[in-house]
Amino acid sequence: MSSYFSQSVSKLAGITQKQAQVLQKELGLNTYADLVSFFPYRYEDRTTIHKLINLTQGQDYALLKGRLISKTLHGQDKKQVLTAILDDGSAKIKLVWFKAIDYHQQKLITGTEYLVYGKINEDKYGLSLHHPDYKPFAQVVPEDFGLFPVYNGTAATEAAKITPLKMRQWIRTILTQGRDRIVETLPQEIIAAHSLLSRREALHDIHFAPDSRRLALALRRLKFEELFYFQIQVMQPLKNPVARQPAAVLSGFDLARSFLTQVLPFRLTAAQNRVLKEIAADLGSGLQMNRLLQGDVGSGKTLVAFLAMLMVVGSGMQAVMMAPTEILAFQHYASLSQWAEQLGVKMALLTGSTKTARRREILTGLETGQIQILIGTHALIEDWVQFKALGICVIDEQHRFGVEQRARLRHKNSALAPHILVMTATPIPRTLALTAYGDLAVSVIDQLPEGRKPVKTLHFTELSRLKFFQAMREQLAQGRQVYVVYPAIEENEELAINDLYSGYESIKRAFPEYQVGIVHGKMKSKDRDYEMSRFKNGQSQILCATTVIEVGVNVPNATVMVIENAERFGLAQLHQLRGRVGRGSHQSYCYLITTHKLTREMRERIRILCQTNNGFEIADADLKMRGPGDLKGTQQSGLVGLQLTDLAKDQALIEEVRNCVSDLLSKDPTLELPQHQVVKKKLEIIRQKKGDFSQVG
Ligand code: ADP
Ligand code: MG
Repeated sequence: MSSYFSQSVSKLAGITQKQAQVLQKELGLNTYADLVSFFPYRYEDRTTIHKLINLTQGQDYALLKGRLISKTLHGQDKKQVLTAILDDGSAKIKLVWFKAIDYHQQKLITGTEYLVYGKINEDKYGLSLHHPDYKPFAQVVPEDFGLFPVYNGTAATEAAKITPLKMRQWIRTILTQGRDRIVETLPQEIIAAHSLLSRREALHDIHFAPDSRRLALALRRLKFEELFYFQIQVMQPLKNPVARQPAAVLSGFDLARSFLTQVLPFRLTAAQNRVLKEIAADLGSGLQMNRLLQGDVGSGKTLVAFLAMLMVVGSGMQAVMMAPTEILAFQHYASLSQWAEQLGVKMALLTGSTKTARRREILTGLETGQIQILIGTHALIEDWVQFKALGICVIDEQHRFGVEQRARLRHKNSALAPHILVMTATPIPRTLALTAYGDLAVSVIDQLPEGRKPVKTLHFTELSRLKFFQAMREQLAQGRQVYVVYPAIEENEELAINDLYSGYESIKRAFPEYQVGIVHGKMKSKDRDYEMSRFKNGQSQILCATTVIEVGVNVPNATVMVIENAERFGLAQLHQLRGRVGRGSHQSYCYLITTHKLTREMRERIRILCQTNNGFEIADADLKMRGPGDLKGTQQSGLVGLQLTDLAKDQALIEEVRNCVSDLLSKDPTLELPQHQVVKKKLEIIRQKKGDFSQVG
């Protein structure tokens, strides 16, 4: 990095010690480079001079050119007010000052022409500008026009008098003095091929664009760069196997084969088969698998994961499957343990409620290698467990599991990294998958098992309760089962449970001939498991629940999902809940119950859900409606760290950059070509200063 840009902000001309401290402490701006990479959060539009007569209703700010025709001092002492009248030829406007009156009184000269910018104030006396910026028109320079940057600040920056004007001055000075020292970070051929501004131009224009077209170009260039260096870090290890972690070569697939031919009562779908081949290839490669298994709810991911674990066990190593909750861990165990038993594979379940004695037994069994498959919750396994020879780690529900946690797993094995398979039922639009999930290769199960009928989704308002009760009754009469879900709002779990309890009571009254169960997150897990197993075994026919049943619960005989206050759920969550039905061969139904007062956005969500069962379409719609909020958290901040790019709005650019990076790496995976040295160098800097894509020099 060039030494000019690494200078401390305290070296800036005219900065006070206090101001330098506040910049560092409050905004994290230590060097010139930091300051130049501190992008505005909005702009004042000073591109065109307005005529007073043309000011439109609702216009907040105006840039004016006019002659000062009078100035008057009102009041006395502290209550003094200075007013001046500006005439721009089309109309007149009042300029008003309450502070620094002497200063402005002296500076403003009647009869002179001024360029004036300010916020338009409207009251019973008409329009006025309070404390506007002004400058004699004779002294105006081109820099007085353009989009003026406004930077984020805090109470402390304001107190330290770090005004927008100061920020602009500092940044402009650095950009001017350092101009020739701003280095290009993208290869010239890429700049040309994608019609990008140079880095120098872009950094200038992101702060001081003359107009919105140039600002858009600057943004495009800087987002391109941000995405380029993000994606190249993600893709290089994939394209360049040498950089990947070595892992055990696994090829003992007979166990999995005999499971498929002798135990499994149905055939895999084509999509499951394809994904399994991808996994088998990874396991045999000698390099660590890092694969994301995406598939809509009910597409059969768990089964694929089980087969992957059998491949590992059949090769003489151990497997672990981690679920986000105890209920889910139990579910997986319940559905897989019979199969394991039939194969003679030793499987154990480890959760928070595992008794100490049993836990000790399990830990020993894992260390000696006697237990071949472990199923449990994330937290426990991360903290406690050591394996003899861990070959694969399956992680259910990726969105609750960050990159850091995955990295920690690598240390579970002293010698070689375990293979990693991450399952998610949250369908991520394809354009996002790589960006959001970083270094994972992606497999998609895009097909449901045969014979599944799409869930029919209907919207009812509370007023038509009798109608959907009737529909429930018909299904119950045919021997089917029903879920009724109440919204769980995290900040107010109590309220949700109240909803749940009163709903439960009214369901019991409405369906006296049936057994009604209840589950929620605050129950003892023993009680919850008891209720769940009653429902699973068909001893209860209706299950009232909070969203604890959102993920993974599998009762194929349940064909009705009633969601109360559906307007309070997000699209993705509603889709997840709906995925609890439609898991067998019977026609299933989802009833979305809402109040009759819905905002347009709520109505739109309900409409999309009634219209499609396709998780990808829903995820896309979700993203468009509210931005990729779900991808935030460890995942997003730890891995993505994009400052300018908007994952929802910039999908076309994400795609463009991805193709560009992919081409480049196909031609030159290790960045040896002379024209790629600039990339190699920049990557080295990034790796030293991990996560910072925005240095200047
Ligand atoms: P996911 O984890 O993707 O939500 P699961 O693996 O839990 O889906 O599968 C849902 C249900 O479908 C389970 O009962 C499972 O046994 C069953 N299943 C999985 N694959 C098939 C298949 N190829 N044919 C029929 N049923 C299947
Ligand atoms: Mg599942």
